[in-house]
Amino acid sequence: MSWIDDPAFAEDKPFGPQTLPYGVVETANGPTVAVRVGDHALPLRPIADEFTAELAELVTARSLDPLLAAGRPAWSSLRARLVELVRSPAAPEGAVLVPLSETRALLPFTVGDYVDFYSSRHHAENVGRIFRPDQAPLLPNWTHLPVGYHGRSGTIVVSGTDVERPYGQRKTDDGPVFGPSVRLDIEAEIGFVCGGPVARRVSTSAAADHVFGVVTVNDWSARDIQAWEYVPLGPHLGKSFATSVGAWITPLEAFAAARVPVPDPGHPRLDYLVEDVHWGLDIHLEVFWNGTLVSKPDFAGMSYSFAQQLAHMTVNGATVRPGDFFASGTVSGPDKHQRGSFLELSWGGKESVELDGGEQRTFLADGDTVVITATAPGPDGSVIGLAEVAGTIRAAGD
Ligand code: CA
Repeated sequence: MSWIDDPAFAEDKPFGPQTLPYGVVETANGPTVAVRVGDHALPLRPIADEFTAELAELVTARSLDPLLAAGRPAWSSLRARLVELVRSPAAPEGAVLVPLSETRALLPFTVGDYVDFYSSRHHAENVGRIFRPDQAPLLPNWTHLPVGYHGRSGTIVVSGTDVERPYGQRKTDDGPVFGPSVRLDIEAEIGFVCGGPVARRVSTSAAADHVFGVVTVNDWSARDIQAWEYVPLGPHLGKSFATSVGAWITPLEAFAAARVPVPDPGHPRLDYLVEDVHWGLDIHLEVFWNGTLVSKPDFAGMSYSFAQQLAHMTVNGATVRPGDFFASGTVSGPDKHQRGSFLELSWGGKESVELDGGEQRTFLADGDTVVITATAPGPDGSVIGLAEVAGTIRAAGD
């Protein structure tokens, strides 16, 4: 029996001892690195004596930045020691458990470069059909490389942060007009937090040494701004106003039992995109709109793994650094109830989505709250959790 007395801290629960995601919580002594155990945070600074000097230095920092930079051997040592500590019958001296409802989880790392991919075939085909109905839904490059764009790292915000409705240009029959977006949307995605030594030309087989962990992502998207601005260079202001990420980073090591092959593209891949081990991940997402479950996208259907995305991102000689962040692209499946954006669920605003209570919606209204959660299979029939990413829309400001 563990000393941690929390019914949510169990092997058959998403945040049991098999998961142990990292975050940073606000305490009386300032921001503190912590591990999530069930519905509690376990701040690590008060129990720093339980670790080697090298690990103690990492866990007493005010963010996860030093831990991200430390690399895979340190990540594995720390995780192994934490597993011992949380499974022990006796509490480490000085240990304090903070209920999640009584603390604030902060953005846990300094975000470096941010890239967002577009790796769901179903999403890409749906968007193609909605935005370019007179053309083939997939462009010719799509099955050969993971299409992506550089996002805005400075507006990545932690779960729970309100999102202000963005302003921008949109096209009307009378020409472009300026004002608050009237087609504000979500994108349910999975994100990858980079760490380890600065590197370039990372192979698919080395990718796991440069990915510290995994989070839920909501890539808020203003479809009216996007539809007018995106030709020919891609997304810009329709995306850059905010991207929300889960507050707790689930270590990549936790996903050992969730690895699956990515779908066959139907033709040979160029060598640098071939995986010698499978890094597709069997993650199940759920999207809640004002509390109504509106979609259940499956990540296992994504056409490119994070290892292929990272290999592609660095194959030209560009570096990956600790704190760099990349996201998968909207996760959509073949069925309507698996679509990861409201653009797709409402088919471009033509079909409404019914919420509990009968309210009919297409895009986001002020005051709406979206929560995205995710789980994956863990070892021995257990469940691995990814912490929720939540956000509420505020009216456009002055
Ligand atoms: Ca996106």
